[in-house]
Amino acid sequence: MSLEIISSSKEMTAWSMRQLGSGFTIGLVPTMGALHQGHLSLVHEAASGSDKVVVSIFVNPTQFGPNEDLEAYPRTLDEDIKALVQQGKADVVFAPSVREMYPLGANKTWVVVDELGDHLCGASRPGHFRGVTTVVARLFAIIQPTKSYFGLKDAQQFFILRRMSIEMSFQVELIGIPTVRERDGLALSSRNRYLSPEERKQAVALSRAVAIAKTLIEKNGETDSDKIIRAMKDELASVTLGVVDYVEIVEGEHLQPCKRLTSGMVVLAAIAYKFGKARLIDNSISIVPLRRIGRSRV
Ligand code: AMP
Repeated sequence: MSLEIISSSKEMTAWSMRQLGSGFTIGLVPTMGALHQGHLSLVHEAASGSDKVVVSIFVNPTQFGPNEDLEAYPRTLDEDIKALVQQGKADVVFAPSVREMYPLGANKTWVVVDELGDHLCGASRPGHFRGVTTVVARLFAIIQPTKSYFGLKDAQQFFILRRMSIEMSFQVELIGIPTVRERDGLALSSRNRYLSPEERKQAVALSRAVAIAKTLIEKNGETDSDKIIRAMKDELASVTLGVVDYVEIVEGEHLQPCKRLTSGMVVLAAIAYKFGKARLIDNSISIVPLRRIGRSRV
């Protein structure tokens, strides 16, 4: 299969219109490049669920804060294209310039989802989700995908985008894909390349801590968020390099902290940790088991 590279949004829209006009569905995988197996798993899913697959590669300046790694963020377009050609599942790489995505310069039109971005990464990265929702809304407008695929490693991002999409009536189905991990459990991330060998060894504690939260909630029936957070922090105590950004438990609808977990609730246990300039995130999603109240009488 040949891979087409498109950088103009007009050409991208024209391509999509041709595909949709021929009755094909389009699966979109938005990325910032520096592709790894996590991204490729989204592309794989997109190819099984859609006739045509577009991978967008765009390091979106509006989702980076002033002191974040926008300049240093890895840009490896040639290698990304090679990886996609080798995988053989994508039809188009949409790789626009900043000018193409923000044609009038400094952006004035924003899509904002209230409240869901108040905690977790939204609290430590002010303005981040406003940049994400705005650029994804533009990608949806340009590409008109039938389905769009996102990693649950960025669970808060997925929940926010899903809400945006429903509330804005975008005609696209959002699909969340489980986190792809290294053999020892570390979630794959484009930022893992910043880690020193010692940091890399210690970073695996993040995945252990979120797994502990899932076990406590789903197997041990723990409903006290403070206890779960304490257990996660205890696990992170073995990490001597870097600093905790946050360790939080939020419910899955409005992404607000909740002290007491109740039956049937979807719960996100999430961590952000800074190793030097590498800010890593991980999470586990649990469903609080249904509790029997008294004995059933027949
Ligand atoms: P990024 O390039 O970091 O913006 O990520 C692009 C997409 O890939 C997002 O939907 C991420 O959630 C997803 N992604 C990143 N890392 C992983 C991973 N380890 N497993 C699955 N999806 C991932």
